[in-house]
Amino acid sequence: SFETKNYYLDKAIVKELLHTPTKFAHKGIFGHSLIIGGSYGKIGAVALASKAALSIGSGLVTAYLPKCGYSILQSTISEVMCLTDNEADYIRLFPETDSYQAIGIGVGLGQNADTVKGFAAFLKDNTNKAMVFDADAINILASDNSLLKFLAPGSILTPHPKELERLLGGWTSDFEKMELVKGFTAKHNVVVVVKGAHSEIVLPSGDIYFNSTGNWGMATAGTGDVLTGILTGLLAQGYNSEHTALIGVYLHGLAGDFVLEDKHPHCILASDIINKLSSAYKEIL
Ligand code: AMP
Ligand code: MG
Repeated sequence: SFETKNYYLDKAIVKELLHTPTKFAHKGIFGHSLIIGGSYGKIGAVALASKAALSIGSGLVTAYLPKCGYSILQSTISEVMCLTDNEADYIRLFPETDSYQAIGIGVGLGQNADTVKGFAAFLKDNTNKAMVFDADAINILASDNSLLKFLAPGSILTPHPKELERLLGGWTSDFEKMELVKGFTAKHNVVVVVKGAHSEIVLPSGDIYFNSTGNWGMATAGTGDVLTGILTGLLAQGYNSEHTALIGVYLHGLAGDFVLEDKHPHCILASDIINKLSSAYKEIL
């Protein structure tokens, strides 16, 4: 092991990191996000992530989906642009990335053999493009470790406990788990968000931030997809990946806490969290 620091991620830290836009802002300076994901029956994940990216302040958002997702997405969210794969039900060929300041990949993606192949080629074409990896993007990385060397420095991975286990293999204690994560972030120069009741943000240096916001009502479908959108939207605005992870995880939890003002935790939907991002921002900015 090596010497690293632990921090408690609170409002003061996030306030320090957040930019305050001026009245001369235009949508160009808030960046263009690309959300890549979706497969038959899992288009909602892309809708949630895209809407979250817009709601956290990305200037523009494009979603890349299989054809079956086109009408669903366009009629669910008017503000999101849509590009489609040639396949109907899953993604085979991944898009060009030159026009985007930030990419979030994996939500609802599925693991069709053609998707897995296309994903590998996409990674190799984008070794300098830091991205947010979630869900099946993490599962594909976990099932083929040889892909990890293509991760762009500064990428962010957001595994939930099962995805983390697939990525790192097992562990026998929480201490060992965190040592493994620290080894991983250092080796690949990435940020890992270990999602859970107190999400932990592990930096490439091995420093760890323990999040202070969030509640058990957030243990429900789609909340991870919302986080992916938030992180992508922050990257698009020019925050570096470490600041993006700290700000994003904190605001996601804080928005979830604001939902409790009107709802019992059992009743929280992922989309409620998106609707409370404004309250979360107002608490700080
Ligand atoms: P996912 O499993 O990918 O949908 O992600 C779930 C999201 O909900 C993550 O951001 C978790 O940190 C959050 N979450 C899950 N359970 C809890 C909990 N008990 N308390 C706070 N946040 C939670
Ligand atoms: Mg998830």
